[in-house]
Amino acid sequence: MIQIHQLKGLYLEQFGSNPAILAKSPGRINIIGEHTDYNLGLVLPAAINKYIYIAVGKRSDFKIHLYSADYTETYRAPLADDPEAAPIWAKYVIGIAQILKREHIKLEGFNAYIIGDVPLGAGLSSSAALTCVTGFALNHLYNLNLSRLEIAKFGQQTEHENIGVKCGLMDQFASCMGKKNNLIKLDCQDLSFKYIPADWSNYEILLLNTNVHHSLASSAYNDRRAACEQGVAWVKEHHSSIQSLRDISIEQLERYVKPRSVEIYTKCKFIIQENQRLQDACISLTMGDFKKLGELMFKAHWALSKEYEVSCDELDFLIESAENNHEVIGARMMGGGFGGCTINIIQKGRSQPFIQEVAPKFKARFGFELTPIHVAIADGASLIQEY
Ligand code: ADP
Ligand code: MG
Repeated sequence: MIQIHQLKGLYLEQFGSNPAILAKSPGRINIIGEHTDYNLGLVLPAAINKYIYIAVGKRSDFKIHLYSADYTETYRAPLADDPEAAPIWAKYVIGIAQILKREHIKLEGFNAYIIGDVPLGAGLSSSAALTCVTGFALNHLYNLNLSRLEIAKFGQQTEHENIGVKCGLMDQFASCMGKKNNLIKLDCQDLSFKYIPADWSNYEILLLNTNVHHSLASSAYNDRRAACEQGVAWVKEHHSSIQSLRDISIEQLERYVKPRSVEIYTKCKFIIQENQRLQDACISLTMGDFKKLGELMFKAHWALSKEYEVSCDELDFLIESAENNHEVIGARMMGGGFGGCTINIIQKGRSQPFIQEVAPKFKARFGFELTPIHVAIADGASLIQEY
C-alpha cells in the first residue's frame, strides 16, 4: 500500500522542490464481455482500488525529468525528444505528454515521480493507469481543460503510437471514468455508456493470477479476429448494410456461415451470445440478483474455453475449483486468455478459505504458485492534492 503523505516527500527528495499536484488513476477489471470489444460489442469494466500515483511539478526548460520508484530508474530528456531509446515505462509518460503538447501548445516541461500498486501485466491494465494518471495530472498542471474522455482517448493513442498495442478504449475509459460501486456498460460501437450501480456489500471480488502467459496468445488473438471478420463478410454478401457481429443474428449465422465453416460459425456465435450474457448480467445486477450474475459468469467462462477456445488448463482448473466451492457465486477467466487472472465473486469474508483450499492444489497440479489479488470497485482518476 502506497502511503500518500509520503509521495510529496519522495518527490522533494528526488527533484529538490515541492510537487504542484498529486494524482492517482486506477487499474480495472471486466466483469463479463470478453473479445467483444473488437467486434464493436459491449464490455462491463470497473475501476478498482489499485492505482498508479504521480507527483508532478512544472519545469520551464521544456525538459522532462521522470523517476519510477518501481523500476528505481530515472529518465531525463527534452520534451520533444524521440522516446524510442527511453525505458518502456517512460514511453507511456512521454508518449501522452507529447500528444498533449501537439494538441495543446501550453504544455511545457515537468518533473514526475511515479509509483504504483497495479500488478504489472496481470490484465488489470497498469499501462492504462499510467497513461491516464499522467494525462490527468498534466491536464491540471497546465490547465488544459481536457475532459476525462479526451484523456482516455489520448491514453489509447499513446498505446497505439508509442507502444504498438492496438487496444480498444475500455481500459483507459474505466481508469478515467470509473465510479465507486458501479460497473460501466460501455458500447464499443459508438462509445455510449451507462453506469450500472450495484450493492457489493455482501460480496468480495478476488482475482487469482495464474502467473502464466502462454505463447499462443497473440497468434490465437489474430486468428479469432480473422474468424469474426470472415463471418461478417459471409453474412454481408447477403445483407450489405451489416458492419459487425453486432448487427447479425444467430439465425443469419446458421444460414450463411455454418454451411461454409462450423468453426467460424462457433466463434461468431460466441460473440453474439457473450453480448447477450452481458445484457442479462446488467439486468441481474440492477435487480440485485448476484446469483444469476454468477451463473452468467460461469457460462461465459466455459463458452470462452470450449467454443471460443482461448482458455488454458490453469484457468479451467481455477474455474472448476470455484464451481465446486458453494461460496464462490461466479467466476470466469478475465482478459484475452491463455493465462492471466480469473475473476471470482465470493460471499463476503469467504475468500480466504477459498484461497487456502485452491492455492495448494494449484501448486501441486502445475508446480508453481498462483497469486491472489483482492480488489474493490472504485472511482476513476482523481486529484489527491494540489499545492
Ligand atoms: P497491463 O495488462 O498491466 O496493462 P501492459 O504490458 O500493457 O500490462 O503494461 C505494463 C507496462 O506498464 C509495464 O511494462 C510498464 O512499462 C508500465 N507500468 C505499469 N505499472 C507501472 C509502474 N508502477 N511504474 C512504471 N511503469 C509501469
Ligand atoms: Mg496494458
